[in-house]
Amino acid sequence: TQACLTAIDAAGALNAFAHKTPEIALERASAADARLKGEDAPAMCGLPIGIKDLFCTKGVPSQAGSRILQGFKPEYESTVSQNLIDSGSVMLGKLNMDEFAMGSSNETSVYGDVISPWRRGDDTAALTPGGSSGGSAAAVAADLCLAATGTDTGGSIRQPAAFTGTVGIKPTYGRCSRWGVVAFASSLDQAGPMTKSVRDAAIMLEVMAGHDAKDSTSADLAVPNFEAMLTGDIRGKKIGIPKEYRMDGMPAAIETLWADGAAMLKDAGAEIVDISLPHTKYALPAYYVIAPAEASSNLARYDGVRYGHRAKLEAGDGITEMYEKTRAEGFGPEVQRRVMVGTYVLSAGFYDAYYNRARRVRTLIKKDFEDVFAAGVDAILTPATPSAAFGLGEMIDADPVQMYLNDVFTVTVNLAGLPGISVPTGLDAQGLPLGLQLIGKPWEEGDLLNTAYALE
Ligand code: GLN
Repeated sequence: TQACLTAIDAAGALNAFAHKTPEIALERASAADARLKGEDAPAMCGLPIGIKDLFCTKGVPSQAGSRILQGFKPEYESTVSQNLIDSGSVMLGKLNMDEFAMGSSNETSVYGDVISPWRRGDDTAALTPGGSSGGSAAAVAADLCLAATGTDTGGSIRQPAAFTGTVGIKPTYGRCSRWGVVAFASSLDQAGPMTKSVRDAAIMLEVMAGHDAKDSTSADLAVPNFEAMLTGDIRGKKIGIPKEYRMDGMPAAIETLWADGAAMLKDAGAEIVDISLPHTKYALPAYYVIAPAEASSNLARYDGVRYGHRAKLEAGDGITEMYEKTRAEGFGPEVQRRVMVGTYVLSAGFYDAYYNRARRVRTLIKKDFEDVFAAGVDAILTPATPSAAFGLGEMIDADPVQMYLNDVFTVTVNLAGLPGISVPTGLDAQGLPLGLQLIGKPWEEGDLLNTAYALE
């Protein structure tokens, strides 16, 4: 813990931590020390970790990277971070992230950009760690903590993991409780671990997961011992390669990475089969209707009364002006764009044309996966991202759709509620990490982690 706290102070330039909590860390570390001397120390006893700012942590600023939650210190602890406390882990602080987890580069945060510890060859230009869990990815990659929590609504665990050479798993929807996690798009949001290895991810996911009566979408299923399932034996497993993920203009390095990954799994005894997921091309547009629709509804609660920031009012201002001024000041441009899109697609005149159509597309995407799994496929292998990490400013200043395209390989998994993992498997010509994604059957994270283990 002390080594991590020192490393965090020395790596301030990365801007990975939004709030440091050294007093809490040292207190929990010494409590863990005492437990470690006993017989029954829990799985993560004494392990220093970072918590994404989207998780409510009792008495500690929890701002979701937004100005509108300035000064908000929750009275309660999220179930996932409580599970981690109960397992003896040590919170070092809250990690920077895109505002309300909207973004793919950690450039929409009120705390400022996170800088990746990676560089392109000898080029010193700052790169993005990805987003929205950019602080988590940078902190793990730069050894500021042993692991971190992330959340993934459309790729926010898997894309930053791929950009920083770390491992990130988004579990099946319902595996981890969403209670106390600031809501973005409630039917898509899931928490998951971001770690240095597949084994660490297995250990941490088991701690984070589990039924919670406080989240009605949390599944009442036993959580297996994921670590014990890491045998590395994947003989006879059928791995599908979906042809729709082979996009025009895909960088050669990504093509090679994908082919090499398939070859590795084959060498380990798996059977590689070509598959089709025909509705893939509609996933991104459907996601960018559904996610903003849910976000616009979830974000209605930030009214300047219940939490955080309230704008200064002038004489004569009424409650409407208070809402308008507070929300105009408190939300950044990307969040405002999502609220605008979301309220538009939910409006009476356009509900059927956009929101309902997107929901029907979502069902078809889910069915594509169900058909493939019913035909005997055990897992699906795809690239995690369409490129390696890009430079800060390179995309955020362009058309927002350019940024949205980062999620092309990951949003399908959230729409279908499936588990997906990003595993670092190679470097591009400039030495930047690249990741492959494995998509698994619902509730079969153990199998998925084991296949990832064989790929690592
Ligand atoms: N980049 C996607 C978005 O901006 C996904 C974000 C996430 O998974 N939280 O919506």
